[in-house]
Amino acid sequence: MIGERTVAVFYDEVMLRHNPEVNLPFVPNRVEKRVRNILEKMDFKWSYPEHPGRLSSIKDFLDKNPVSGVQFMSGPPATYDQLARVHTTGYLDDIFALDGKRAWLDQDTTAVSPGSIDAAMSAAGNAIAAVEQVVKGASQSAFALVRPPGHHADPVRARGFCLFNNVSVAAAHAQAKLGCKRVLIVDWDVHHGNGTQNIFWADPDVLFFDTHCAAPFYPGSGYLEEVGAGLGEGYTVNVPLPETAGDVAFEMAFRDILVPAAEYFEPDLVLVSAGFDPHHNDMALNLSYDGFKVITGIVQEVAEQHADGKLVFVLEGGYNLTSLSLGVHSVLQVLAGGDIPELAECGVKEVATAADFHRSAFSDDSDNI
Ligand SMILES: [Zn+2]
Repeated sequence: MIGERTVAVFYDEVMLRHNPEVNLPFVPNRVEKRVRNILEKMDFKWSYPEHPGRLSSIKDFLDKNPVSGVQFMSGPPATYDQLARVHTTGYLDDIFALDGKRAWLDQDTTAVSPGSIDAAMSAAGNAIAAVEQVVKGASQSAFALVRPPGHHADPVRARGFCLFNNVSVAAAHAQAKLGCKRVLIVDWDVHHGNGTQNIFWADPDVLFFDTHCAAPFYPGSGYLEEVGAGLGEGYTVNVPLPETAGDVAFEMAFRDILVPAAEYFEPDLVLVSAGFDPHHNDMALNLSYDGFKVITGIVQEVAEQHADGKLVFVLEGGYNLTSLSLGVHSVLQVLAGGDIPELAECGVKEVATAADFHRSAFSDDSDNI
């Protein structure tokens, strides 16, 4: 029943201050002028898709449609040392030098505005606070509603709207300070979590499981054969999917690949890079709200089986404001103890009902007359 379990939702308005505009100057030498020229010549208004409205829509929806058992709170910004567990100091110094400025950082759509550095520190800090809340037993699960997102950010580079890799900063904090030796990171965003993969590529203490729309879809990585290297070989698990894959394929990926992988790995903590862009309203893939509920239920089972239930979600992408808000709401309902639906391919239930309805019309059975 919804309300049976405690869920902490971490949110801070500071993260609304990251608000890049399209007509920003590029950081010199980082971006080909060609890209800007192409954009300028095209006759349509392009706005920065990763905008503050993403987070405020979720918050408004949750305020109007509260989920019993959910409590809102916020954490302090991440410190330089906490970020330096997964990013190089050279990269961090470059990013902090942009504090208060407006600039494009990269050719693949990452930019900053005057409030962006504070927002990014708050995003990583709230992911850390969510992990602390759960590991210390103050809530059974947590969801960090954060932006800018993180899973494309490399140790040395901002990419794909991401500045700091929030989920990785949280995982590294759990290992360094909270006694969690092995951390499972599940990434179900429609895009491959290339940054998270790179950070833990050779690390056998972080198992990275990622379902995504297959390359050449952005960022073009996440092939089946990318399994980690050195001591970390086998601890990166990619499941590339065709762009129309939906609920049934997702459930199968989670049951047939994630569950046995987690049984082998025995995590102390489960983190989820939760993007809502695999919803059928959004970029690619075809998940429904029931699909999000089912895969939430599976990661919840995995956490209960191996990690004493310790489960923390960190928001990644999701650009359709309706499916983003309803997707988060669906996940929170399951985390709070709500029912998990049974999945069938879209339309199968309706066809079964229609078949029952029409059956008698084509029967000579006198009972049906
Ligand atoms: Zn995404």
